[in-house]
Amino acid sequence: MNTLRAVIQDAQARGDAVGHFNVSDLVLLKAVLAAARELDVPVMVGLSEGEREFVGTRTIGALVRSLREEFDFPIFLNADHTHSLAKGIEAAKAGFDAIVFDLSALPFAENVRQTKQAVEALKSINPSMMVEGEIGDIGTGSEIHDAAPDLAKGLSSPDEAKHFVESTGVDILAPAVGNMHGMLRSMVKGETKKRLDIERIAGIKRATGAFLTLHGGSGTDDDDLRRAIAAGINIVHINTELRVAWRHGLEQGLAKMPDEVVPYKIVPPAVEAVKQVVLSRLRLFNGKRRAA
Ligand SMILES: [Zn+2]
Repeated sequence: MNTLRAVIQDAQARGDAVGHFNVSDLVLLKAVLAAARELDVPVMVGLSEGEREFVGTRTIGALVRSLREEFDFPIFLNADHTHSLAKGIEAAKAGFDAIVFDLSALPFAENVRQTKQAVEALKSINPSMMVEGEIGDIGTGSEIHDAAPDLAKGLSSPDEAKHFVESTGVDILAPAVGNMHGMLRSMVKGETKKRLDIERIAGIKRATGAFLTLHGGSGTDDDDLRRAIAAGINIVHINTELRVAWRHGLEQGLAKMPDEVVPYKIVPPAVEAVKQVVLSRLRLFNGKRRAA
């Protein structure tokens, strides 16, 4: 089985990106794995601190490891948006393949100082764990927002990206390049799309040479996603689109069977709705592999 690093490297060499999908229950996990297996492309699942709180850090570590072995399939586990070293250490000990150590809300110098410490501490527990750092402001909350936050001032520059990567030793960088967490109501309806600053992505890639993650990928213009991957994005995070599909699918299941109480008879439409979203995103992220 390839390591996550080899999988990202391999996708980059081809001009593809690895899809990262947040999961917080078995419906989401089953849907993501089913979609990735159907297309036979590697996949990452991620859980934020809140999602880990609900599922259990050790539980998800054991589940993903077990799925990887049972199906001999490249599914990798990421500790998304981790805000303290204590939570990071918990994830490292539970066997996570990667972590997003996110101190982007702190002043830049403090973010650099503490991220560097975290890289050293986490690698001492698991040297192969990939550590991602985050700079700039892309908002918080993978949910539906009524209004767009003003993120223009929080965009990342190639210079600060280079300084951050060199000073901290992170393997992966999450920059602010026009992306944002969550979706606006108009994006859920498909009326508007997020647009990305492709030039900025290319500049940050040139300056750092690091692997880059695009957070808040839900609701982004398809062509911008393709161009962002060509400009150097290696991992794309999708969460809100899955949550919307999960809710709609569950509502459908409940409406179809008003008297049913057996969970595994009610939730299949939710699995299917989430799977369709994951399939469509994985096809886009793995365009080169699928063309070959
Ligand atoms: Zn994120």
